[in-house]
Amino acid sequence: MSKWPENIARKAIVGFKAYNARGGASNALHLDANESPWAPPPVTTTDEFNRYPQQQPANLRDRLANLYGVSPPQIMLGRGADEAIEVLLRTFCEAGEDSILICPPTFGYYETCASIQGAKIIKAPLRADYSYDMDLIKSKLAKYDASLKIAFLCSPNNPTGNSIDPKIIPELCADYPQTLIVIDEAYAEFSDQESFTSQIEQFPNLVILRTLSKAYSLAGVRLGTAIADPRIINLMLKVLPPYPIARPVERAVMRALSPASMPVHTARLKLWKSERIRMSQALKASPYIKCIYPSDANFLLLDVINEERLLKVLTKNQIKIRDFRNMEPGKFRISIGSPKENNLALAAFGVDMPVIRAQRIGEEYRKTKETDIAVRVNLDNSATTKISTGIGFYDHMLESLAKHGRFSLVLSCKGDLEIDAHHTIEDCALALGTALARALGNKAGAGRFGFTLPEENFGPQDILVPMDETQARVAVDLSGRPAMVFKGKFPTDMAGEFPAEMCPHFFESLAQTLGASIQIGVEGENTHHMIEACFKGLGRALAPAFERKGEEIASTKGVL
Ligand SMILES: *Cc1c(COP(=O)(O)O)cnc(C)c1O
Repeated sequence: MSKWPENIARKAIVGFKAYNARGGASNALHLDANESPWAPPPVTTTDEFNRYPQQQPANLRDRLANLYGVSPPQIMLGRGADEAIEVLLRTFCEAGEDSILICPPTFGYYETCASIQGAKIIKAPLRADYSYDMDLIKSKLAKYDASLKIAFLCSPNNPTGNSIDPKIIPELCADYPQTLIVIDEAYAEFSDQESFTSQIEQFPNLVILRTLSKAYSLAGVRLGTAIADPRIINLMLKVLPPYPIARPVERAVMRALSPASMPVHTARLKLWKSERIRMSQALKASPYIKCIYPSDANFLLLDVINEERLLKVLTKNQIKIRDFRNMEPGKFRISIGSPKENNLALAAFGVDMPVIRAQRIGEEYRKTKETDIAVRVNLDNSATTKISTGIGFYDHMLESLAKHGRFSLVLSCKGDLEIDAHHTIEDCALALGTALARALGNKAGAGRFGFTLPEENFGPQDILVPMDETQARVAVDLSGRPAMVFKGKFPTDMAGEFPAEMCPHFFESLAQTLGASIQIGVEGENTHHMIEACFKGLGRALAPAFERKGEEIASTKGVL
């Protein structure tokens, strides 16, 4: 006879092993929970914290419906995809009678929720190569028929990283209409396979789970979504506890998914995917690795040899990865972190690498009543340029600046252009300067100075920036002290929708937040040419000032 309070609790709970919900942030390198290494865009206001939130905040429901390409009545918001899993179990599985199907090795929470709810667990294990065994799945669905309420299929699967064959899903949905076919797409953003959300209209028994925890850097905020036929969603909403989406959560999500922020998420995903390729190739050289499984997600499943030694090294270096040896011998899962974090992990795995310095990336989010701006720059890779300010001529100028400055620039702004272009131009300049300053950090190795006058690596055509009848001269010093000198007179007031007076103002604002001295002289007869020559010239001057050679800080004071 068990002791109090076990003797008064439900039997299913007493014998049950608690779900291991890891969490927290320490000084260790966390590559064990598939989180994002980057912080989401920040929020500040506490307005309406005194009021209960809506059960399903309408603005958030609209935003997520839009994000996933479905309509608001087709979604339920919960505290992570985890809560959607729990609500599914509680809505559809009668304790002691019904069952769920899972395909291990897979995400552990399906089994946990089923055990708490008292639902039976039917297993259709993945094959030895971790592909889904469709014949086995179908035979189980056929055998248990209507009492098998939910089939959980995870794609890409955690922890194996592979995706399900998309052709199979319509067949399963059509052939087993009494069973909910749930596709857990927690990692869909990392995969090139199309999401199954587009098939929701066709199949009333198809349920898709999505989360903001992985690709959108919001694991700590807790927001996930179930997507299904509104009749399914309405049943689930009866079970969802009151007020699951706290106001700070609503704010944080609306901010992190603001239209201006989206290009930054896209740029991060691109880097994430290229790091996944880099890690899976580099780890092959590790003495601890027997095999690395292909992955469509933000982690790699590793088959490890000499495990105890590896664990010692990882512990010594405070690097956490996820141990899956309880599931399969020798298996570990490592999340893909930032390039710098990945380099630390590679070193611990004993991969001899040429010393690769982390790329200098800087981001800034700036939101006021007048503008909403997200900027991301990469000074060591000029491959990505995506600019949208709502002012065509300004986009073109910023593109020139990035192109000639040889840096990547993702900048998007939703500004009050119905008033005029002033706030948009000024605030983008301020945000860009801040992002560039963040990327530069302590400026170790950076050239500091730049001119459009002769330099070894500039051809004679670059001595000045000529543009038809116009000539611009630009000099830059990343001194840490803002200053701006502009000499030039524009013959007209506007270039397209861009007021000429905003040209010097742009450089003034940029100098402020970048902490640079910018000097510009321009002569010409055409306002468009003159402004363009200034932006190009500044780009040309910034390129050598940003360029990193060695470690030295280019100042006798030792700081810049
Ligand atoms: C992380 C994860 C979840 C949970 O996501 P949350 O939204 O953070 O609750 C669900 N399913 C799988 C497969 C996961 O890996």
